[in-house]
Amino acid sequence: MAMNSSGRPTTPGTATTGTAATFTGNRALDHEEALIFESGALSKTGVDLPEPKQHKSRLGGLERSGDIGLPGLTEPETLRHYVRLSRKNYAIDSGLYPLGSCTMKHNARLNEKMARLPGFGDIHPLQPQSTVQGALQLMEILAGYLLELTGMHSIAMSPKAGAHGELCGMLAIKAAHEAKGAQRSVVLVPESAHGTNPATAAFMGYTVKTIPARDDGTVSVDAVKSALGPDVAAIMLTNPNTCGLFEPEVVAIAAAVHAAGAYFYCDGANFNAIVGKVRPGDLGIDAMHINLHKTFSTPHGGGGPGSGPVVLSKALSPFAPLPYVVKDKAAYRLIETATAATGTHPFGRLTAFHGQMGMYVRALTYMLSHGSDGMRQASEDAVLNANYIRVGLRDIFSQPFGDQACMHEVLFDDAWLKDTGVTTLDFAKAMIDEGYHPMTMYFPLVVHGAMLIEPTESESKQSLDLFIATLRTLAMAAKDGDVERFKQAPQFAPRRRLDETKAAREPRLTWKASTEHKEAAE
Ligand SMILES: *Cc1c(COP(=O)(O)O)cnc(C)c1O
Repeated sequence: MAMNSSGRPTTPGTATTGTAATFTGNRALDHEEALIFESGALSKTGVDLPEPKQHKSRLGGLERSGDIGLPGLTEPETLRHYVRLSRKNYAIDSGLYPLGSCTMKHNARLNEKMARLPGFGDIHPLQPQSTVQGALQLMEILAGYLLELTGMHSIAMSPKAGAHGELCGMLAIKAAHEAKGAQRSVVLVPESAHGTNPATAAFMGYTVKTIPARDDGTVSVDAVKSALGPDVAAIMLTNPNTCGLFEPEVVAIAAAVHAAGAYFYCDGANFNAIVGKVRPGDLGIDAMHINLHKTFSTPHGGGGPGSGPVVLSKALSPFAPLPYVVKDKAAYRLIETATAATGTHPFGRLTAFHGQMGMYVRALTYMLSHGSDGMRQASEDAVLNANYIRVGLRDIFSQPFGDQACMHEVLFDDAWLKDTGVTTLDFAKAMIDEGYHPMTMYFPLVVHGAMLIEPTESESKQSLDLFIATLRTLAMAAKDGDVERFKQAPQFAPRRRLDETKAAREPRLTWKASTEHKEAAE
């Protein structure tokens, strides 16, 4: 656009930045803006500090010699920057978040209020234990409830996410084998598993042996039996599985695994489907992580803290990691070192401290505000909602394993998109234009062009009806040959289609002014 020497336009121009056809690049209330480093300058920093008078450095020659490298912004600019960024974020607080396998349920504000009580929010893990008795008691109560719900023997509270819990459970399994002097090198993982399962096993040096899925999406005990042998340390099985189905042979699988001297790790990320209905301990599992940030409504996503306590069977209990809470006489104590007196053989520690205190408070608040009947109902409603969506879409969308009831998430494949020129990815991008976060796509890998939808119990019938209607209109547009609508999508998002692979493979995590400008000038 033509500009005068003061940098002001001399013609009626349009966008200089962004994708919108506006002068500012803004789309109404959706603002376009430069990176904070590009718009900041130290000359306009929001606070003025007096020059120190007689400043004598005590850094012994280590003081900074160049600029500090932080963007200087006024206070309103700083505030606006972060408020605008937050508005670009899709969140469960702004709309339905149907991401399968993620249980994006409502995070009640009551949970937040409780987590911010000073006695929980303002404490430090190095405080003397006598000053944090209430926090230790809360951990103990939560641990007890989790054991009650799962029917398991003991629990490791400290893992900080599901994947971290997998590592915890598998380290306990490894320690148990080592205590028996056994060297077992193989871990069985079904094809439909979440990527973290084989990643955990491989990270620990195990060889991953894949169990094929049956035509109905479940794992057969016969397939497990034929893969078992003296070299198998464990199976890592998700139940309900990532196709949204309860594994019908799970009890027989547990028995076969134990008969072969191996342990059963259950990925419990889908626990929301069965809380109050099935106790995993009754199915014969040895270790299972619970994603508090999925099932028990502590917030997740955006790299925020998760929490993945691991429940353990009696056989694995002695190997649980440190620390753990015990109640002696009238006081709660954290056991931080194993001694002969404790009679345990912890495999070590997983985290520096005791885990995610704030998540413990939120999860317990969720439990207490729902009660046992409410938690059971939440699971029933989650399953009902998923089936409501399934039935609302099944005449247009295709179900890979036939028309059968699902658990808390419903899986479709892309067979129905055949010959339309529209892919699962295109379809998901068109959902963004309609104001929805897409469902989980291309996972589980056993299904071609998978679309995995998990509405959770949080959604009302009205919300589900609008979602179903939206997906139906999009599906009919795809079948009617309106390919452009899909290939151009998303048209209303701040950015169109990003090169996600390149962003993941070659992330640029720092901004360097000099090279950037040089590249631009060359
Ligand atoms: C979410 C999830 C995990 C991993 O949990 P994180 O807390 O994200 O580490 C593992 N397995 C399944 C099936 C999941 O859905």
